[in-house]
Parts: sequence; structure tokens; C-alpha cells
Amino acid sequence: MWFRRKTSGPPDEEKLARRKRRRRRRWWFYGGLTGAFWCFYIWQPWEFDFVPRSLPSPNPKVNPEPERLFAKGAKVLLVTAHPDDSEFYIGGTLVQLGRAQAEVTHVLCTDGDKAYYPFEDHEKNRRTRRAEQAEASGRWNARELVYLGFPDGRLRVTDKLVDDLVAVMERVQPDYVLAFDGDFPPRFSHQDHRRAGEATEKAVLKYGKARWLMRYSTLAANYVRDITDDWPTKSELLAIHKSQFFGERLERVRGMVAGRAEDDGEAIGVPLGEGFRCTRLTTR
Ligand SMILES: [Zn+2]
Repeated sequence: MWFRRKTSGPPDEEKLARRKRRRRRRWWFYGGLTGAFWCFYIWQPWEFDFVPRSLPSPNPKVNPEPERLFAKGAKVLLVTAHPDDSEFYIGGTLVQLGRAQAEVTHVLCTDGDKAYYPFEDHEKNRRTRRAEQAEASGRWNARELVYLGFPDGRLRVTDKLVDDLVAVMERVQPDYVLAFDGDFPPRFSHQDHRRAGEATEKAVLKYGKARWLMRYSTLAANYVRDITDDWPTKSELLAIHKSQFFGERLERVRGMVAGRAEDDGEAIGVPLGEGFRCTRLTTR
């Protein structure tokens, strides 16, 4: 036998309707929050791999013929996305290349002018960042700086970007191309870095004459350069990018970069290193 519980509150229909309204409001609130977060995520230029990428396994160590790379007159093309990437990721290696008198042409896909931010003076940013990069590259002895002028924070792998990179390659005739790793980037990384890496990978295949592609900022390094002795210079190079790294922030960045260098160095048993994922492209 069923008994109906006596209640002193409003009738059941009214309760149900109230519960429905509450549920609807909750849906709107959390849906709106998720939508707002997603819109912000799409707008801002950083990417996060919600599902971690599986890394190459096995990933044997390779020898990218360093005696050929760190040599007078070695033809090297470095592709970065923004000013400061070069010093941040491979400053130690660049110092060593400069010392060896390798001929490094540095291509920057964007000016890092932050034009995607609504309240930034991008003309001023462009001038400042170019000046800082010129000073830093001068310190490690870059042969030439080439700005491709693609939009900062919105770099895409277009035919134009790939063709521009191929054109520089054809002119410089590099044996070694150094670029971001577009396939195995850090899980949380700038989208311009990934796109610059992907575009360079396409360009280098089109160019077809480079001997080695060495990808930095990678989770799948198969070659590590010992930069222990060059750490003080790398640390000074970071400070040249005053518009980005200053005061406490500079110290935080130095700490972060040192942490990465320690992790990379551990792989070859040295205090500090810079890791690359290298692929032999031709036998020339
Ligand atoms: Zn960058």
C-alpha cells in the first residue's frame, strides 16, 4: 500500500518547476563559463595539448656531425617565431656557433609586436624588439637577420610563409637548419612556435638540399649540446630583451631556462645542455 508523505511546502508541480529553473540557470552559468573560457583560449596565442602526445619510441641518439656544424663558414639557417626565441631556447649553442665562426642567418617569422592585443602600440613594440634582437644576435655573431613580418600571435602555415622560407634557403644554401619542433613541442607552448616549426619542416623538404634539420624546444631530443661553460653568456643574452624580461621576471625566466638546461644536460651527464631532435635529410 502506498502512503503519500504529508508535506507542508508548495505542491509538487511547483517544486518541480523550481528545480527545473535552477537546473536551467546552472546550465546557462556553466555553459557560459565554458564558452567564455573557450573563446579566450581561441583568441590567445598559446596552445595546450589536452591529450599528451606520444613520443617517438625508440628515440635513439644521433650525431649531427658537430665538427661540421661548429666550423668556420658552416652554412646555418636559424628560424624562430619571435625576437628572444633564439636566446631563450638555444642561446648557448648560438654562442658556440658564433665562436666557431659559422655563418648563421637568422630568420624571424614575426616581429613579436603583440598586435593581437587591443591596447598595444605595435609599431613601438616592433622597433623595440627588432633593436633588442639586433643587439643579441650581434653578441653571438649572427651573419644576417631576416624579418618575414608575419602577424605575431597569429602565425599560420601558409604557402606564402613556406615559400618565403624556401626563398631564404635558396639564397643562403644552408647545410643545417635549426627550427622549432612542430611535432613534439612542450605540452603548453606558443602557437607561433609550433607553426614556425611546421612551416620550416615543409620548407626544408621543398628546398631539399639541407643536410640536417635540428629542432629545438622539443620533448623528443636525440642530441644534446653541452652549454655549461656558455651559461653566463646565455644568461646575459636573455637580459638584452629588456622589454620582455626585466627585474624579477628576468630572474624567473633565467631560473626557468636554467631548469630546462639542467633537464637537457642530465641526458648526457653534464650540468647544462640544449636538446635538439635531429634528422638527417641528405647525404650531400
Ligand atoms: Zn616566442
